[in-house]
Amino acid sequence: MDFQQVFGKAPETQASAPGRVNLLGEHTDYNDGFVLPTAIPQSTTVQLGFSSDCQHHFYSENLNEQVSILDINHTPSGFASYIFGCIELLQKAGYTIPSLCVYVKSSVPMGSGLSSSAALEVATLRALRQLLNLPIDDVEIAQFAQQAEIQYAGVQCGIMDQMASSLADTEHILFLDTRTLERRVMPLPEKAEILVIDSGVPRTLASSGYNQRRAECEEAARSLKVKALRDITDVHVTETLPEPLQHRARHVVTENNRVLEVLQGVTSERFGELMNASHASLRDDYEVSVPALDRLVEILQKTEGVFGARLTGAGFGGASVALVKSGESESIATHVLEQYNQAGYNGRILVPSLGLSDPA
Ligand code: ADP
Ligand code: MG
Repeated sequence: MDFQQVFGKAPETQASAPGRVNLLGEHTDYNDGFVLPTAIPQSTTVQLGFSSDCQHHFYSENLNEQVSILDINHTPSGFASYIFGCIELLQKAGYTIPSLCVYVKSSVPMGSGLSSSAALEVATLRALRQLLNLPIDDVEIAQFAQQAEIQYAGVQCGIMDQMASSLADTEHILFLDTRTLERRVMPLPEKAEILVIDSGVPRTLASSGYNQRRAECEEAARSLKVKALRDITDVHVTETLPEPLQHRARHVVTENNRVLEVLQGVTSERFGELMNASHASLRDDYEVSVPALDRLVEILQKTEGVFGARLTGAGFGGASVALVKSGESESIATHVLEQYNQAGYNGRILVPSLGLSDPA
C-alpha cells in the first residue's frame, strides 16, 4: 500500500528523519546532563496530503494500520498519538493546520532503542514545516517533538532523542548539553565504525524502571540541594546519600564526566574504555542491565578489533553499541552473534556498520 492506494491521490510533500544511537551519556538527559548520540542510516518518512473530509487520517505502513481522528478533543492512542501531538502543539503555538492525510513508513526498528518514536515526530514536523512554510527551526522541531511524546504519547522522555533525530547526521557524533542545548558536531575517533546489535530481549520493565530511576535521581538532587545531578561534578559529593540514591547519583556524575572527557578529544582506544566503563556503571550503579545484555557486551568487549561496547538506550533489554575498527564490523558481528546465540539468545544486527570517519 502506498499513499495513493490508501488516500486515493498523490501526497503534497514528504520529509524524513533518522533514528539514533547513543554512544555515551546514558540516563543523563533527564538529569540536565551530557549525551553523545549519532544518527543511524535507517529513517522514517512522512508523506502529507490535504484531507477532504475535515478529519485527520493517519496510516502506518509498518503497522498496516489506519487511524482517523473523529473527535479532535480526544487524544488517540498508539502511533497516532505522536502525530496528533505534533499537529496539536503547532496549533496551540498559533499555527493553522488543515485536516491532513498522513502516511508513515520507516526502516527504523520500532521499540529497539533506536528512537523510532523521535524519528516519527521529527519527520512529521519537518513535513508539516515544508507543507505549510512554518517558520520553525530544527531545535524548535526537537522541542515540539519532545513535548508531543511527553504530553500526547505519555512518555516522560528527555530531549536527546529528538535533538539527535533533528540535528545529527550519520557522519558525525553530536555532543549535546541537554540543559543549555549547546551542541557540537564532532568526528568519531579515528579509524573506527559503529556496530549496533540487539540482545533479542524485549525491554519489558523499561518504562517502570525508567520512571523509578528518574524519581531516584530527582530525590538525590533534592538531597544534595542542586537543581539536577548535572550540577555535581565531584563524585565524592554523592557519598553522603543513602542507598540506592548514592549508586544512582554516582552513575550520573561519572557518566557526565565520561562524555566531557570525549569532548576534549580522545583516541578510539580511550573512547572504547569509556564505553566499557559506562556499561559497568549502568550494570552495577544504575542497575538497568540484564544478564543477556551483560553477556552480549562481554563477548563484544573480548573480541579482537572492538575498542569498547556497552548497552545503549534505557536498558532492561534492548540493544548494545560497539566501537570497532573500520571495516571489521561485519566479521566481528558474525563472530559475536555466533557465540551469543549459542547461549540460546536471539541476537541480531540492527545497524551493520556506521562508518563515521575516513578509514584511510
Ligand atoms: P523506540 O523509540 O526506541 O523505537 P518507543 O517505544 O519510544 O521505542 O517508540 C515506539 C513507538 O513509536 C511504537 O510503538 C509506535 O507507537 C511509534 N512508532 C514509531 N515508528 C512508527 C512507525 N513507522 N509506524 C507506526 N508507529 C511508529
Ligand atoms: Mg522512543
